Amino acid sequence: MAKIMSVECIRTRKNGTWTIVKVTTDQDGLYGIGSASDIYNPEAVVMIVEQLLAPVIIGRDAANIEDLWQTMYMSGYWRNGALLQTAIGGIDMALWDIKGKEAGLPVYQLLGGACRAAVPCYGHAGGRDIAELKEDVYRFKEEGYTVIRAQLGGYGGGGFVELGKANVPSPSWASGSVFDEHAYLQAIPAMFEQLREEFGFGVQFTHDVHEHVSPIGAIQLSKRVEPYDLFYLEDAIAPEQLGWYRQLRTQSATPQAVGELFANPQEWTPLIQERLIDFIRVRVSKAGGISACRKIAALAEAFGIRTAWQEGGENDPVNQAAAVHLDMAIWNFGIQEINHFRPEELEAFEGHIVRRGGYLYPSDKPGLGIELDELKALELVGGDWKRSVYFNPYKLDRKADGTLVRP
Ligand SMILES: [Mg+2]
Repeated sequence: MAKIMSVECIRTRKNGTWTIVKVTTDQDGLYGIGSASDIYNPEAVVMIVEQLLAPVIIGRDAANIEDLWQTMYMSGYWRNGALLQTAIGGIDMALWDIKGKEAGLPVYQLLGGACRAAVPCYGHAGGRDIAELKEDVYRFKEEGYTVIRAQLGGYGGGGFVELGKANVPSPSWASGSVFDEHAYLQAIPAMFEQLREEFGFGVQFTHDVHEHVSPIGAIQLSKRVEPYDLFYLEDAIAPEQLGWYRQLRTQSATPQAVGELFANPQEWTPLIQERLIDFIRVRVSKAGGISACRKIAALAEAFGIRTAWQEGGENDPVNQAAAVHLDMAIWNFGIQEINHFRPEELEAFEGHIVRRGGYLYPSDKPGLGIELDELKALELVGGDWKRSVYFNPYKLDRKADGTLVRP
């Protein structure tokens, strides 16, 4: 028995935007790490991990992951909030890491063993205009990627109208440009038409709507991009309007992927059970960790739906490792999103996932196979520790009249 002795958070990356959970045991040198990063609310997650959940599990047997998960889940009576699930997710990953180290096996072996030799991933191609985008698509194709996300600049790109060209009231609430749904719904099909002219149908494309449009706009877009044979359309409909996936499904055969904002089983269960989506895209930490996501994957398999765990911009290497271990072991795996790490950031995480030629490779070391060098982690934070504003609340996208657009 390895008794849990301490649960603490280590914040790293510039401004401390990554939160790594470390669970230590009474066995010599036996500990585990997990990801509880939340770029907007790191202090709240750290408080939940260290002050609310740690006292619940310290002294307990680290081996009983499911019982510990359920204990943490019910410890505050109210449950399924995004921050609580992130905190549980970080501890859950650390417990799987400990179990793997105890067993001398990589986590994917504990989950049933490998279903594939490596994990296919998709790249993020983008450009301010179609010429830049094509150049970026060529770059990913040359690296070996067969699935590539195509965006015209930032989320909603293709739909932004410069202030000088938009009819805005005076005074205007907008800065720089305004989002025009009609323009976006014209620009994205035109973008795919040009990509297919350039690249033919030998490469697969996705596109992330990032919930910028109305539900009927999502249906129109799904229909208009059908001739371009997308791998999937991502987050076409906002979490507040999930019921619209029923209408979308009857109108369009464009594959749908959604889930990066989900933290509650009531969000993903109906979409899976009614076969309204094709890829479930929760972030592993946000759904409650490896324990929660292996259940989501099993549920999805029963209904013919594949996984595409969210990674991308601000995720950390430990969350990536947890996703890749799941990817290795899940039969109904679909695709894995790439991350954006700087070389010096990866240096702090020995045994990190290796990306090569459109594939991700886990280390074969026991557990998650990734270790955090705590001194290097401290160096990464840098001097100017300040609150992150990835989506600056003062610079959120607005329509011409000033109305906020969902981020
Ligand atoms: Mg996304």
